[in-house]
Amino acid sequence: MKLVNADGWPGVIDGDHVIDLRPLLAGRDGDRAASFLHVMAHWDRLSDDVLDDRAALPRTPLAAIHLGPPVPRPGKILAAPVNYETHRREMGSEHTVSTLGLFLKAPSSVIGPGDDVLLPYDDRRIDHEGELAVVIGKTARDVPADEAGAYIRGYTGLIDVTMRGPEERSARKSFDTFTPLGPWVVTADEVGDPNDLRLRLWVEGDLRQDDRTAGLILGVPELVALASSMMTLEPGDVLATGTPAGVGPIRPGDRLVLEIERIGRLEVGVALRERSGQLLRRT
Ligand code: MN
Repeated sequence: MKLVNADGWPGVIDGDHVIDLRPLLAGRDGDRAASFLHVMAHWDRLSDDVLDDRAALPRTPLAAIHLGPPVPRPGKILAAPVNYETHRREMGSEHTVSTLGLFLKAPSSVIGPGDDVLLPYDDRRIDHEGELAVVIGKTARDVPADEAGAYIRGYTGLIDVTMRGPEERSARKSFDTFTPLGPWVVTADEVGDPNDLRLRLWVEGDLRQDDRTAGLILGVPELVALASSMMTLEPGDVLATGTPAGVGPIRPGDRLVLEIERIGRLEVGVALRERSGQLLRRT
């Protein structure tokens, strides 16, 4: 099933409609951000309730809905640097995720379908990195790779927008709007094997990235194992799996489209931020 952010609230897609999940949240609908994390944590039970109550729950045509990021405020976003050999070669990096470990992106950097990535500088190289993202459904600590599947709620698309330069990775990747997420979370049962999905990214209709997740150095189960060995993973946490070759700069006015097989299509714009970041010393 496809879990969505429908006009700011959790929903699930049913054909060409979206079922509003708020009636099933039992008083947890006062806090929007928390309601999405609740759905990620309890979807096994909630999905039974949806099937039982399908006809009684409110529904809206999908075409009439504005989709937001499917996890608008994850507790954390953990991301893999250099996790495709093709990307390692294009970056000339001696290291891969196996030696670099994982890094954090700010949860406040998330935006959704149709939103704009806002560039904080007009004189720095800022790249797109199209990635498969894992959304956690169950608290995970020291999970072995062969048990990782039980902790995964589903998958979505993620663009790890990245400023190149000498600053710390987290700083270069955590500006507001630097993590487009969506268009929805496809539950793990519908995706099947996440380790062989075609991933493509276009800039202004120009195909820039085209690869398969089979090229991941650390596959999804190994990433969950590594991440959960570093820190406790909680429902709604997002794990960005890394980007294949083809990264390149984005400019104001660009349209970015990320499409991942069995997951969907995420489209965002690019604009220059009005008040540009001034705190980092120019290099
Ligand atoms: Mn990345």
